[in-house]
Order: sequence, then C-alpha cells, then structure tokens
Amino acid sequence: MKRRLFNVAALVSLVLCALTVLVWVVSFWVQPGVLQVWPQRLWSLGVTRGSVFFHEVRQPPGGSGTFGPPWARRFVLTRPPHRFTAPNALTDEWRFAGFEYLRRSPPLTFRRLTVPCWFLALATAVAPALWYRRYRTRRARDLTSRCLACGYDLTGNVSGVCPECGTTVHGGAAA
Ligand SMILES: [Zn+2]
Repeated sequence: MKRRLFNVAALVSLVLCALTVLVWVVSFWVQPGVLQVWPQRLWSLGVTRGSVFFHEVRQPPGGSGTFGPPWARRFVLTRPPHRFTAPNALTDEWRFAGFEYLRRSPPLTFRRLTVPCWFLALATAVAPALWYRRYRTRRARDLTSRCLACGYDLTGNVSGVCPECGTTVHGGAAA
C-alpha cells in the first residue's frame, strides 16, 4: 500500500515536473496567467521569463478606492504585461537566486512573490529520481537472484523465503 502510494506520488510529481519544464520554456515567449479581481483586492498568478509569480494588490481599509463594483468580480486569463513594475517606496524587498519578495504600502498594499521555475522543476524531480533509483536497485537484484527487499544472495534457495529478512521470494529468484 505504502509502495503503491509512492508510485502514484512519483508519477504525479513526474507529470508536474514535465509541466513545469514546459511552462518554463514557453514563458520566454508568452506569459500566461490568471487574474482574479474583487472590489478591494486583486490577485494575479502567472509565469514570466522562467519564473512563477503571485501578486496581490489591496485597497486601503475604509478607503473609497475600488478595483470595480461587486458585480465586476471576475476570473480571467491574462496576457502580458502582468508582471507589474514594483512601485517606488518599497517597504520590503528580498531577492535570492531568482526568488523574490516585494511589499509596498500605503496607500495600496502591493505584494509579490516570485519562485524560479528551476526550483519547481528540481523539487518535483526528487520523487521520480528516488523512484528510478529504487527501480534500478530492484532490477539489479532481480537479475542477480538477490532478495528484492534486502539484496541477500538467494542462489540455490528452495524455501521460497529470504533467510535474511523473511520476505517471500517471487518467481525465478530462487534458482
Ligand atoms: Zn531479504
């Protein structure tokens, strides 16, 4: 059960990794994203030039400013440019290896978080890499008549059970 769960997780992770790489490459030509607007708040999530970013703009509490009437709440696919230039007077700014966090207020509160695609691609590649390493190990043990669980040499084993770890020997392992 645990192994099956890991297999599924590795597969999902592999798909996400492939999607990330695809988006990474495509983001140098087109910058797809989504924009959600409320009267007092605006969210945008998208990719641009190798980075995934999320940004939020808020109206000051109690102010008369608005991004639109309540019925204007909408969810749209946006086109560039939606990587807004950070307004002057930043109150917070942090950058490292393609990661970025910006915050500015008042009057509007502006926040932006950027995560580089290389990081997302690397993070989603971990599970598939572990899966592949385990697959290689098990395959090598299978081909050399070793126990799949612990690697113990099962040549000549007739009991059908690994004497080292007690795992039931499958198929041709017991020669
Ligand atoms: Zn064993």
